[in-house]
Amino acid sequence: MAWKEIVGSAFDADAFDAYCHGLSWTAWRPSFITVHNTAAPSLAQRPNGFTKTHIQNLVTFYRDKQGWSAGPHLFIDDRQIWVFTPLTVSGVHSPSWNKTALGIEMLGDYDKDAFDSGRGLLVRQNTVAAMATLCAILGMDPLTMKLHREDPKTTHACPGTHVKKLELIQDVQDLLVQRHAGEHLV
Ligand SMILES: [Zn+2]
Repeated sequence: MAWKEIVGSAFDADAFDAYCHGLSWTAWRPSFITVHNTAAPSLAQRPNGFTKTHIQNLVTFYRDKQGWSAGPHLFIDDRQIWVFTPLTVSGVHSPSWNKTALGIEMLGDYDKDAFDSGRGLLVRQNTVAAMATLCAILGMDPLTMKLHREDPKTTHACPGTHVKKLELIQDVQDLLVQRHAGEHLV
């Protein structure tokens, strides 16, 4: 299968928002977001988050080992939001939803890693920021998001149980309200 070249750039939350505002979804348009965690590597295995080399190793994994046409769209760590598969084309991450969903991989194993403190909380905040941006730009309701483990064709429990769907949705809704309020101040 022809490999869809990756973007391979990292952004903080504000730069990611600006980046997404410059995109246009003309050929493919996602209708919701699917959230994953990497499990391996865990946070401890990536003490400084992802590097360019890690991202390039993921290309080798998905393209050469798996033989896939693409991977997930975003890899998010405690420092940055890495754009992997371009957000304007379909990716490969959840058997049932590749054609319809954006795939976000969060660094961590949230069966073991905390998702409400320390580095896990920073990953969560970056993920919420990225989701809020994508929901706002694409007109997606945060309520439509799914966890990978909700895919009936998926056998593994992803993301870990510390990731609570309704809490994540609430975080995104709260940030959207907060950003919207900010717009009225300027
Ligand atoms: Zn997954």
